[in-house]
Amino acid sequence: MALSVYNTLTRQKETFHPIEEGKVKMYVCGPTVYNYIHVGNARTAVAFDTVRRYLEYRGYDVTYVSNFTDVDDKLIKAANEQNEDVLDIADRFIRAYKEDVGALNVQEADINPRATETIKEMIDLIQNLIDDGFAYESAGDVYFRTKQFDHYGQLSQQSVDELKVGARIGVGEQKEDPLDFTLWKAAKPDEVSWDSPWGHGRPGWHVECSAMVNKYLGETIDIHAGGQDLIFPHHENEIAQSEAANHETMANYWIHNGYLNIDNEKMSKSLGNVKLVHDMVQEYNPNVIRFFINTVHYRNPINFSDELLKYAEQSYDRLKTTYNNLLHRLDKSANLLEAEKVEKGEQAIQRLRAEFIQAMDDDFNTANAITVMFEAVKEANKQLEDKNSSVTLLKAYITLLDEFSSVLGIYLKEDDALLDEHIEQKIQQREAARKHKDFSTADRIRDELKDQGIVLEDTPQGVRWKRA
Ligand code: AMP
Ligand code: ZN
Repeated sequence: MALSVYNTLTRQKETFHPIEEGKVKMYVCGPTVYNYIHVGNARTAVAFDTVRRYLEYRGYDVTYVSNFTDVDDKLIKAANEQNEDVLDIADRFIRAYKEDVGALNVQEADINPRATETIKEMIDLIQNLIDDGFAYESAGDVYFRTKQFDHYGQLSQQSVDELKVGARIGVGEQKEDPLDFTLWKAAKPDEVSWDSPWGHGRPGWHVECSAMVNKYLGETIDIHAGGQDLIFPHHENEIAQSEAANHETMANYWIHNGYLNIDNEKMSKSLGNVKLVHDMVQEYNPNVIRFFINTVHYRNPINFSDELLKYAEQSYDRLKTTYNNLLHRLDKSANLLEAEKVEKGEQAIQRLRAEFIQAMDDDFNTANAITVMFEAVKEANKQLEDKNSSVTLLKAYITLLDEFSSVLGIYLKEDDALLDEHIEQKIQQREAARKHKDFSTADRIRDELKDQGIVLEDTPQGVRWKRA
């Protein structure tokens, strides 16, 4: 089976073919760092981290770039209100962002470029567009000449005539056409600014991503991702800038996640209906929050409520209980099953793995993948109920659940504190065995811990352990 991806550009699922065999270049529009993120923002981070994890599971070497918008109107406003430097605020909320999404097991991007560190590249790109007639300077601002770009509206499937209806020229803007959008903004007094061929100013938001994609990934990338509210105008404008400048397709697959809603409204700072990740992780295991997000396919809306989150917690606990029971049971099991029974069990595991891959191959359908995970838990529970369950099968179920959890980014191990206690107990048992010269028991305990990824080191100060 091949991986298929729903491409917003064509509004259909397409078989995924990367530009270079075995490699994926992926860019995800990141946050504006002026505040703590809410669980709606977290959905975007989790959705595309899951896509990345699955691509890696499928053997692709993924280069994942996600930006931080560290200068814009919202940041400048926050800086003025709090009497703080824009970049200090950005630093603070970049740290907070990394902490929050890190708690949700979102892996660090390979590169997290910051807008303010890419100013030179943005200026070069804008100059290039001016030189080719795609942009013009006007009273210290620079605008993109939208009508000059033939494919404008392609991604959001709107004609230029339709777009014209809603377009207005803002106060203080001197544009040739209402559809033209800002590439460079002249600085207002006391605003943070950079020197440019058009005077002091700062870049517009859209141009940031075009410059970063060029700089870190090249002219054409495989996957460009973001929340569905970015389709227009942000991604439409990115395409216009990049393709006008490079004469190359910007991205082959455009993927967008649906909203997380609360009481049927989009969760958003402006509506004041937000749940901050920062607060939620005090109340819920972050794995539960991520599990909850992944129970819905990334393109569908999620309804958020405490009741649904509590329900997700119960479901997650079921997965976790079985997983940890498998780990504990390994201690006591003997490999007593006849070969035929083991073989049948292994066939069931292969089938479950294939079903999981089939679900994820279908446009990263985590909802169906989680259903397969519950089937795996049901089968594993049968093994646990069987007094003569085989070590081979117990281990195979652990491996299977480890695979599923690492793709979904949902970890099932007991809290580390409990796990540490369990390890310490095992070490003491091993020490006692060694004292009694029962070396076979001591070695068995050492091997069992090794199978759980725990390595023991005998030092003159006693036994130390670490996770391999
Ligand atoms: P913002 O801080 O509103 O610019 O949003 C940052 C990112 O989070 C963007 O990619 C948005 O598409 C996404 N986002 C914001 N609110 C939600 C929501 N309620 N559901 C899903 N994604 C959202
Ligand atoms: Zn972007």
